[in-house]
Order: sequence, then structure tokens, then C-alpha cells
Amino acid sequence: MLQFEEQTAHGQGMTRKPAARPAESVTPADARFRRISVDDKRIINGQTDVNQLVPFKYKWAWDKYLSACANHWMPQEIQMSRDIALWKDPNGLTDDERRLVMRNLGFFVTADSLAANNIVLGTYRHITAPECRQYLLRQAFEEAIHTHAYQYIVESLGLDEGEVFNAYHEVASIRDKDEFLIPFIDTLTDPAFKTGTPDNDQKLLRSLIVFACIMEGLFFYVGFAQILALGRQNKMTGAAEQYQYILRDESMHCNFGIDLINQIKMENPHLWTSEFREEIRGLMLKGVELEYRYAEDTMPRGVLGLNAAMFKEYLRYIANRRCQQIGIDMPYEGATNPFPWMAEMIDLKKEKNFFETRVTEYQTGGALSWD
Ligand code: FE
Repeated sequence: MLQFEEQTAHGQGMTRKPAARPAESVTPADARFRRISVDDKRIINGQTDVNQLVPFKYKWAWDKYLSACANHWMPQEIQMSRDIALWKDPNGLTDDERRLVMRNLGFFVTADSLAANNIVLGTYRHITAPECRQYLLRQAFEEAIHTHAYQYIVESLGLDEGEVFNAYHEVASIRDKDEFLIPFIDTLTDPAFKTGTPDNDQKLLRSLIVFACIMEGLFFYVGFAQILALGRQNKMTGAAEQYQYILRDESMHCNFGIDLINQIKMENPHLWTSEFREEIRGLMLKGVELEYRYAEDTMPRGVLGLNAAMFKEYLRYIANRRCQQIGIDMPYEGATNPFPWMAEMIDLKKEKNFFETRVTEYQTGGALSWD
């Protein structure tokens, strides 16, 4: 008997059921079997078959999927021997540097797991464009690679796993960041949550903005800058190299999220009300405050030539950028970037990476050109 992917009310095609009617009644005139027209595709609440990647409408999402695959890397490819020797040397790092590493990993070891759950159990179900789903599948795997990387660093250095993996319960500055995020993740992962009303569509959009612009786009940046600053001083270079790849991946996650948000806005302009924009601006200010407290807690005395005040300026600069990218008025007039070197870290190309240990563009098979 003919089987087909039944379209749900939201076009999600999640369930597989036998054809509801005899096969002979299935004709090209049947709307459910009409060939997909690009114009019918929608990011949310789409009615087209989510299993048909082409014809492409959202080429930007497919292109990001291809770029993400070309950036593939695995943690165990990176040597940790110098980091291990430095960490075991009683004079290798200061107490402040050790505190920074522990608190840094304390946030990240669970953060990418929260991100993965948000994608797999939440966002993916609500997005009806197969090009975007394709990228989200790749993104979910990258979140797993990042969790793997943090675990690899913890294991290599022989850190107290209980302390690091429980930091998101036990360290207030980390717990506060996660507690801010969790309600927005819970909205999307609630099995009863469905898009299709203006109120619920705004809930989805709000959660997508918090995830891309505040979690991946802001809450990761104090931590990235700290470990990369250590690497610039030739300390913890194996960890720093991994953070460099993670930063590159996360920068693409953030940019994909922003493209997704802007496309949803274009297709659903009624969601983008002035009250909604004001609310998002307020969430951004709250995010900056929480991330600044985390910076103070990880660097109470200033370390590596960095201090919390510099991070305050950096966070304001990033928050302005995120607001600008999604069309919200910039909250911090005149904020400047105290760490221009961070841009070089994100912008890895074919040349060897900053810490000069391996070529960072990972291409195999079909991704190589043979000329
Ligand atoms: Fe991510």
C-alpha cells in the first residue's frame, strides 16, 4: 500500500501513516501531492513537504550548511601535551588564571548541551523550511563536538569533573545565565507548544532571538575571549586552538540564527510590533548585565591584561551589533571594541590557524576541487 508523509496542520510532516484514501484517488490534482513551488515555502507554519530540500528557496541556509561541513574538525586531532605540562607545573599558571579556566569550563561544559537540546527537541520541530532544517542538523552535531571538546580538555588536564560539570548549579554567575535562558528553551521544547497563532509565533521568535543573539551571540564571548587571550600569551594553546574552532562554528550559528530571525520577520511582519522590539531590547540589556557579572566573577582581580571593565565595553559593543543585525535600536551609543584581535580569530581561512598547529580548513572528497 502506498505510504506517504502526512502533512500536519503546521506542515511538519512528522508522522508516517498509511494513505488515508485508496491509491487510485491520488491524482496530480490532489493538493497534497502538488509539486512544490518555491513561492509556497515558509520558514514557519509552511504547508509544503518538509522532506523536499529542492527547489531551494533559502539558499543562504544551504550555503551555510556547506560552509559548516567544510569547517569540520574533531577535538582529539588537537595535541594537549603542552597544556597538560603547563597545568601540572605548580608555577605554570597563576591562581587567577586557574580560576579563570575552571569557571570558563564550568559554563561551557553544559552550555552546548543546552544548545543541542534546544535545537533537537525544540527549534527543529517548528521550522518548516528543509534548507534550514538541514543546517540545524549540522549545527546540532557541532554542539555535540563542542561538548566533546570541553570534556576532552577536562579529561586531559585531569580536572575535578564533579566541580566542573556541576558549576551550572553551584556557581551563581553561571547559574544565573542558565536560569535566564531556560524558560526560553522550555517554550520550544514543550511537546504541547505549536506555532500558528500570533502569540505563539512571537514566543518562537523571542526564543530564537534569545538563543542566537544572547546565548550564542553574547554569553559565549567573555569565555571565548578569555581562553583565546591565554593562547595569545602562549598558554593553554591546545585548549585555545579548540576554542578558536568553536568560536568559528558559533559565529556561524549566530549568523544563521540572525538570518532565520530576519526571514521570519519578513514573512510575518505582524509579529514585529514596537512592544515586541522593546521587550527584546530589555532582554538584551539583561543579558549584558548577567554576562558582565560572569566576567567579574571569573576575573575578580583582572588577569592576562584583561579586566572586567574592558569586558563591559566589549559586551556593550557586541550587544549593539546583535541589535543592529536584527533591526533593534542600538542600546549603547558609542561603544567600541577593546579586543579587535577577536575578529581575526573568527575569520579563519585556508592559512594555518593562529596558534600554528594545523591547517584549519577541513575538506574531503567532494568538497575538494581537482584542477
Ligand atoms: Fe551553537
